[in-house]
Amino acid sequence: MDASQRVAENRGADGPQPAAPEVVDYLLDLFRRRGDGAYFGEPVSQTEHALQAAWSAQQAGADAPLVAAALLHDVGHLLHDKGESIADEGVDARHEELGAKWLRRYFPPEVTEPIHLHVAAKRYLCASEAGYLEKLSEASLQSLKLQGGPFTEEQAREFRAGPHARAAMELRLWDEAAKNPGLKTPDLDHFRPFLQASLSK
Ligand code: FE
Repeated sequence: MDASQRVAENRGADGPQPAAPEVVDYLLDLFRRRGDGAYFGEPVSQTEHALQAAWSAQQAGADAPLVAAALLHDVGHLLHDKGESIADEGVDARHEELGAKWLRRYFPPEVTEPIHLHVAAKRYLCASEAGYLEKLSEASLQSLKLQGGPFTEEQAREFRAGPHARAAMELRLWDEAAKNPGLKTPDLDHFRPFLQASLSK
């Protein structure tokens, strides 16, 4: 029996919560079980998207918690059961909150807060960076509307003042770039040590 099956009976509204020592196995297994689906109108799977984001983070010299955050930034989509095309149906599943909330039981803010803020970072960058909005993919533009659109000036100021804003913006840029069909990356097991090293002590 694998880790995901052992905890399947504990499934709550936000997905099952395995015991702490099993969480890394559980997460990698979650990508293997559920990560083959398309990434919301983009030409890569959920797992390819996560691997590309994490690989960009590692290549940029990010520390282990931020590499872990890049790998796990969309795990909220794998934890819930709302299907792949919810943006098409006009639903915002708040995957960033769901994922961060689930992960807080195991990982410190250096992992969970950039994840929590990666949608806010998009709204911030759309409001503050010339040309950013124009470069968004069709699917990302569509979800932006559901997410509340670009920040107002005051929202942008508030976002920028937060302790994890910079990490969230870095994560956002790796996220946007991680939609490259056929790009070669290391596999899930390559990132196991990054997850292991980032667990709450
Ligand atoms: Fe993403």
